[in-house]
Amino acid sequence: MERHQGSPARQTRIVATIGKCPEPTFDVFLHKLCEAGVDVLRLNMSHCDAGYAKEKAILDWANQPTEPGHAPRLAVMADLQGPKVRIGSVAAAGLQLVEGATVVLLPEGADYDPAAEVQADGSAAVVIPVPEPTGSALLQGLRDLWRQHPASRPAILFGDGDLIVEATGMGPRHLRAQVVAGGTLFSKKGLTVRELDLDLDPFPPKDQRDLQFCLDQGVDYVALSFVRTPGDLERVRAFMLDHASCQQVSSTRPLPRLVAKIETIAAVEHIDAILEACDGVMVARGDLGLQLGFEAVPGVQKRLVIAARKQGKPCIIATQMLESMIANPVPTRAEAADVFNAILDGGDAVMLSGETSVGARPYLVVDTMDGIVRKAEAYRMEDRANRAPLRLPPIGPATHIERINGEFAHMAARLAEQLPAFAIACFSRSGLTPERISRFRPPVPVLAFCASDWVARRCLLYWGVHPIVLPGFDTRRDRLGTMVEMARDILQKRYGMKRGDPLVVTAGVDWPSGGTNTLQVRIEDHTEATIDMDFDGAGRH
Ligand code: PGA
Ligand code: MN
Repeated sequence: MERHQGSPARQTRIVATIGKCPEPTFDVFLHKLCEAGVDVLRLNMSHCDAGYAKEKAILDWANQPTEPGHAPRLAVMADLQGPKVRIGSVAAAGLQLVEGATVVLLPEGADYDPAAEVQADGSAAVVIPVPEPTGSALLQGLRDLWRQHPASRPAILFGDGDLIVEATGMGPRHLRAQVVAGGTLFSKKGLTVRELDLDLDPFPPKDQRDLQFCLDQGVDYVALSFVRTPGDLERVRAFMLDHASCQQVSSTRPLPRLVAKIETIAAVEHIDAILEACDGVMVARGDLGLQLGFEAVPGVQKRLVIAARKQGKPCIIATQMLESMIANPVPTRAEAADVFNAILDGGDAVMLSGETSVGARPYLVVDTMDGIVRKAEAYRMEDRANRAPLRLPPIGPATHIERINGEFAHMAARLAEQLPAFAIACFSRSGLTPERISRFRPPVPVLAFCASDWVARRCLLYWGVHPIVLPGFDTRRDRLGTMVEMARDILQKRYGMKRGDPLVVTAGVDWPSGGTNTLQVRIEDHTEATIDMDFDGAGRH
């Protein structure tokens, strides 16, 4: 199958969450999503089943070997649940939270006398069970907070923030709160304390089991939820190194790359250190909005996108992008503007969650997003002259070799823009050169000829990069001309390269893997081309 690229090709990537399957089989569903324009599939491991049957079916399809000379089907990002805080089980009819009433949050298993908290009318307070270890972490977090700010009444939000209570005090093993926004509270609803990170294990046993499955099956990206410190990422990387068997890790099949989901206060505060430790970030606007307040989210999004660009890491903007399309056939104007603005902010990818996982029209949603993204990209292109380009200093602290790699990436992008070139062709063993070039947002496609499927797949998250699996080239032995020769058919037939088209070519020749030390401009068929060869202006050819 061919990847949906359109003309001009879309530069921003679309990540879509997979959930229920509206077709007879996952193969049909995935094929159609891919044709609609999805680049990266997100497996939400919060909802995986015990035997991973659904996840296996999806990965079997996505990891099919790519026919040489073609683009991979999709990349897969497994999103680990992390320490999501939820309440325990309550009666099926839910608990009634009445505005102004007192409620009790009680760690499960704690002793509690219902007479301890009595309402004005003499009735006992509603008790909200909180499982361990969350319950104890909640009490400890508030105890610490009140030590510093004794008069504060921190807001505790349930679900998507539609039910709110304010913590007013605590007993020896329970928390007292007053209902501010009432309603019915059902089992297992999420719980967030505004402006407080609870001290919970960021890589709990469930995530470890899920990650082991991902390593066994093979995924391209692993997203880590509720990251607070670079150490959280290092711990997961160490687990991957320890738990992937030798045949799972090789130069052609690297370890999955790590995406840090930014959805805690600590992560926002330490974003630079986290960016250094991860391979990409997600602006997880759902939990971020609960934790920081929705009014803080747009500003954080803009800051994160720029911080990620500066460090050369892809940035995914996620959650509620086309939320109303879960039910409706058209987005709200506000949603269209949100997707459009995410592109102008400079995001590498936009993500769909419920819109594709449980929504009524998953293909239409992807198609709608594709349409808005293209309009935004066209606008950005027209408006290019009016916008100062983002100043991107070398990524530091860099070794000598890394600095050279970075300079070559920058030069490739600049050269392609100045000429202008038809495209940039990278012959890549690791995918790192196309990723570095992508950071400079060249206005022409970056064609990444990759030695393996695994390398090609990870390139599907990079802005403006078109991966193509092309086994057989050897950057240590082949001349650039030989490599371009191998790709010529694809360049001409698939990408429409014509006589006279300048092509910028990069490779690392006799150079450490992952780097670039060679840059060349080739003009297709230049000896016979009827182009103006009067380069020096003096009429000499
Ligand atoms: P989630 O992450 O959907 O896994 O919660 C995204 C977010 O919080 O926005
Ligand atoms: Mn989240």
